[in-house]
Amino acid sequence: MEELELGSVASRFRQGRLRIAIVGANIRAASILRLLNEVENLQVVAVADPNKAAPGIRLAEELGIFATSDLTELYQVHGLDLIIDMSEDADIHQTLVTQKPADVELLGSGGSEMVWDLLIAKKRGEEQEKLFVELQVAYDKIRSHERRLQSSKEALERANEELESRLAEIFFTHEFFKALTSFTSVDDVTSLIVDGANGILGAEISCVYLLDHTDWTLRLRGCQGRGEESFVPALPVSETILGRAFAQGGVVQEADVAPNEGSAAWAYVPEEVRSQAAMPLRTGETIVGVLAIASTAFRELSQSEIERLQVIGNQSSLALQNALLHEELERLSVTDRLTELYNHGYFHQRLEEEIGRAQRFGRTLSLIMLDIDDFKDFNDTFGHPRGDKVLQKVSSIVRDNLREMDVAARYGGEEFVVVLPETDAEGAVAVAERIRQGVAAFPFVGADGVPAVQKTVSMGVASYPQHATSQSRLIDLADRAMYLGKRSGKNRVVLADS
Ligand code: GH3
Ligand code: MG
Ligand code: MG
Repeated sequence: MEELELGSVASRFRQGRLRIAIVGANIRAASILRLLNEVENLQVVAVADPNKAAPGIRLAEELGIFATSDLTELYQVHGLDLIIDMSEDADIHQTLVTQKPADVELLGSGGSEMVWDLLIAKKRGEEQEKLFVELQVAYDKIRSHERRLQSSKEALERANEELESRLAEIFFTHEFFKALTSFTSVDDVTSLIVDGANGILGAEISCVYLLDHTDWTLRLRGCQGRGEESFVPALPVSETILGRAFAQGGVVQEADVAPNEGSAAWAYVPEEVRSQAAMPLRTGETIVGVLAIASTAFRELSQSEIERLQVIGNQSSLALQNALLHEELERLSVTDRLTELYNHGYFHQRLEEEIGRAQRFGRTLSLIMLDIDDFKDFNDTFGHPRGDKVLQKVSSIVRDNLREMDVAARYGGEEFVVVLPETDAEGAVAVAERIRQGVAAFPFVGADGVPAVQKTVSMGVASYPQHATSQSRLIDLADRAMYLGKRSGKNRVVLADS
């Protein structure tokens, strides 16, 4: 096997002008031709094979490379550096060894094996490089995915926080609406509304004003965030942001309140109010009041916050309306809550009925008007709650001295009235006298540890038809008689003048 002088071949290769001829043109030789043809720094300049139809010959013609069946023609090729013998034919190889020009290198079958291996290795190297580039691209993609993942993770965390706070809000809202349906007193509902404004909208200050239809005034009925003393108790419906919401029938907001324009004059210190919004509380076309929220900082309600304010307003309006009706009904109902006697309205109704009956059947009836003596002093000395106890006790003493058919009512603060059907003046005075003694004898409780307090009552009696036949006159006469009793020393029963 010949020694390959790679020194000169290598240097020419490095210089980029290695010129090669291939001898033998079988399939393997053709493959080598193709591979070598792709290598930049060399040029296959000739292919020789005795068989003109060999694959390598045809490929050389295709690629525009000189092809020949005559070996000697190879030696004529200009600037040839290297002959690679792929013929696997010992005679041909021997011919080449002896005939080739001295400056042309010859690579035999062993060498051509090596070239093949090198070329394959190079090919693999290229593939690996391609693979490496692909890996690099994939890695970059993964990195950018990772970055996107990170940012979506952060977005997710933010969304989660938002969701949690929304959940708390939803929970509160649920509780709020549940409570709305179970509250019946106006004060309970209004305080729930301001709580709702705080819990659902994070209102710093909130208040509910209800419309008083008698004088078209908005009156404070619930507040939160500031004490009652911070709110003007009554406002004309035409003024402040509450008046505007009332007039417009929908949400009004001022994210940045203009100073000195009076729109925040519902507050005793309007300068403190930097932003505010108001929502009318209405059922159908009837506005029952206005809910206002305010803050000492700039705040612009978003569309969804405005919607929430509307929901609070709309939902609570119905509960409020119910509570107002309830309150009205209570006012109209027949019993007085404290004394459990009939109330003023019911007394008038019954007196009218009883006078009608007495008229129709030619019967008598009497009226007792009763007032507790020096009750103000008692209240001043022992306090209102103890005074209430006295009112309750006097009421029960009155009741205990009456028949089933008699009607006892609380006429006013500490004044009572009794209708005694089928009773003349004499009978009524007797009843009144029993009541007077009963009260005078009762040991009322003053302050704890204080000996029993005496209380007295003064009464006036008037009878139908003896003193008067009309309802108002009868009342008036009984009242005058009672005051006569007061003037003449109290603790007595006075019969009206005939
Ligand atoms: P006189 O003997 O002349 O009637 O004097 P008086 O103090 O009883 O009468 P006045 O009309 O000056 O005062 C009535 C008092 O009754 C004043 C008010 O505080 C008290 N009062 C009215 N309603 C209630 C109530 O529901 N509870 C209590 N504790 N006090 C009441
Ligand atoms: Mg009185
Ligand atoms: Mg009195």
